[in-house]
Amino acid sequence: MADTPLPLEVRNIKKRFGDTDVLKGLSLTAHKGDVITLIGASGSGKSTFLRCMNLLEQPDEGQLIVHGEEVRFKRTRHGREPADWQQVVRMRAKLSMVFQSFNLWAHMTLLENVIEAPVHVLGKPKKEAIEHARALLDRVGLTERADAYPAQMSGGQQQRGAIARALAMDPEVMLFDEPTSALDPELVGDVLKVMRDLAAEGRTMIVVTHEMAFARDVSSQVIYLHQGVIEESGPPDEVIGNPQSERLRQFLAPKH
Ligand code: ADP
Ligand code: MG
Repeated sequence: MADTPLPLEVRNIKKRFGDTDVLKGLSLTAHKGDVITLIGASGSGKSTFLRCMNLLEQPDEGQLIVHGEEVRFKRTRHGREPADWQQVVRMRAKLSMVFQSFNLWAHMTLLENVIEAPVHVLGKPKKEAIEHARALLDRVGLTERADAYPAQMSGGQQQRGAIARALAMDPEVMLFDEPTSALDPELVGDVLKVMRDLAAEGRTMIVVTHEMAFARDVSSQVIYLHQGVIEESGPPDEVIGNPQSERLRQFLAPKH
């Protein structure tokens, strides 16, 4: 066990935009099979934290260790940036992200979307990538939609397609940023079902969500962010079931 590297370690990440400290030293450790949910009010830094994990934003300070490999940074006039973009590409392939706005490529069919990165980033033979993609589309309930273009699909189908595309990279960790927030209510359940299945299979996931039932049922750890600080974290029974701060109690209270 001791030899298996952790999927992801984040240590003391800080990020400022202009004069604002948006992330004030955030850490997180994902063990294999963990589902870590990030909750918190709008503007608390959830998306920025997630985006720092796969370097869509550059953290000003702190360390990222992906499957045992630490990301190397260098200082420039403009601040800190990755020392080796090849390393970033390699690392991003291990951390697939699913966004709030289903961002399938509009000019490609669903199947083409799913095989794109395996073929062009991982160098997988096309035939093998297609077989894998079809199996993944089966898993997310889109067997019949392989040749559809995103515009011909519902939002829920597009989001499940985006999850299949993320899975096609066989990532070490899947990052989700409010994957159901932009969906019509009747489509949310299908997407959450796919995510519950992934969690049950032992996928390592970090999920920004407002779906408290999902967070309570599926998480190994819940992290509550407030103004770029981890205010509470722990198992869902504690953080959601027995919040300590008045602020978190307010946040969790049913809205009328
Ligand atoms: P959340 O996802 O929790 O709603 P965000 O991470 O999107 O929060 O944003 C946290 C804070 O950082 C907000 O005050 C937001 O306005 C600010 N912020 C986010 N991205 C940028 C950016 N690219 N430039 C300037 N400020 C930003
Ligand atoms: Mg956000």
